[in-house]
Amino acid sequence: MKSSLSARSVQSVWHPCTQMKRHEDAAPIAIARANGPWLYADDGQRYLDGVSSWWVNLFGHCHPHITAALTDQLSRLDHVMLAGFTHAPVVELSERLAKLTGLGHAFYASDGASATEIALKMSAHFWRNSGRPEKSHFVGLAGGYHGETVGALAVTDVPLFRQAYAPLVRLAATVPNPDARQALGGETGKDVAIRSAAQLEVWLAEHHAQTAALILEPLVQCAAGMAMHDPEYLRLARALCTRYEVHLIVDEIATGFGRTGSMFAHQQAGILPDFICLSKGLTGGTLPLSAVLTTDTVYQAFYDDEMARGFLHSHSYTGNPLACRAALATLELFDLQDTLTQNLTLAKNISQAFAPLTAHSSVRNARQSGMIWAWDIDSERQDFSRRFHAHALANGVLLRPIGKTLYAMPPYLLDEEAIDCLANGALAALNTTLTEEAKT
Ligand SMILES: *Cc1c(COP(=O)(O)O)cnc(C)c1O
Repeated sequence: MKSSLSARSVQSVWHPCTQMKRHEDAAPIAIARANGPWLYADDGQRYLDGVSSWWVNLFGHCHPHITAALTDQLSRLDHVMLAGFTHAPVVELSERLAKLTGLGHAFYASDGASATEIALKMSAHFWRNSGRPEKSHFVGLAGGYHGETVGALAVTDVPLFRQAYAPLVRLAATVPNPDARQALGGETGKDVAIRSAAQLEVWLAEHHAQTAALILEPLVQCAAGMAMHDPEYLRLARALCTRYEVHLIVDEIATGFGRTGSMFAHQQAGILPDFICLSKGLTGGTLPLSAVLTTDTVYQAFYDDEMARGFLHSHSYTGNPLACRAALATLELFDLQDTLTQNLTLAKNISQAFAPLTAHSSVRNARQSGMIWAWDIDSERQDFSRRFHAHALANGVLLRPIGKTLYAMPPYLLDEEAIDCLANGALAALNTTLTEEAKT
């Protein structure tokens, strides 16, 4: 039964990443409340949140620790502008993030795309302040995703999101990505990484004088369909960027906060980037917040008597106290629950539950990184994703394949019942989706 809320939503709300006409067949589901990994619709149905509500939720919905911190903060300080003012949550969060990453000078915004733009602007402005204004171009990886505002689209290599806006965008260059699935006979993922880094080197050798930064998603290009690569690529890219005087921006918006097993994905390569972009899991999925961290060297290039040499970027809600407090509570949970260690066991249990799916005859390239699982499905149909999504919902699971890549990115707190629901629901949905194909 379609709720009236759902019908009113289609009339009044323009939904994201959605061809609204599709809602003629499948109305949006009205969610009334959520708890742990479960979303509860207003018709009583519940859904296991297998994608952490677009990769933002870490510890389940309405976590009491984060809720308590937010309630406390709401009674103290809701918001104050961050220019000329400061407050405890933003200071404490900035100190925590610096300690966790080895970079600092946290600059805040409210979403991932803004973090991308801040990093790009800071990088180019750094070179300008350093007397090298010609270094104003960017390079990214094929299939990279860094957000969809006009500036971020420049480095987002996803034609579907970019084509209609091509005249508005100053396209960055792309170099081949190190996706381990490109391994030829006998090659390892590391071999692919070395080969791709060699291609990056050729590109940098020619263009470094005009290039401000290389931006990439470390270890997993999520929006590209969970394309995973060997950490060796990050080590080589770091060395090349240093050699050619090009900044390395790591976009940890999706991979940060334990998603790939380590706190941040780039840490598995033991490298220090010039910029780190954070968002999504930063507040545990409660409030919009993003941050860009950078080096003392970059910071110092802006530190001057002259106003115009400063970084004058701003957003009204920069450093919002509620969002910062939610982020602090989220980081506390990592310590309180020893999350990274606990996730090793959790991930093993989830992998075990997914074994029948992984062994399915239509599955190719099963892969995993930390709390991310992905499988390429041998399907003939372009609408695989849409049909699978619908069948998964019918089985009580929220999963949204990217093209023909099915993936799961659940919150870090699944009990046995939730794991079974996720794994069995995904397998049942796959079988239904493929049986349907066989009939047509
Ligand atoms: C989601 C995402 C973004 C964009 O973040 P928004 O908050 O959706 O603007 C940027 N980079 C990566 C890697 C992402 O996954």
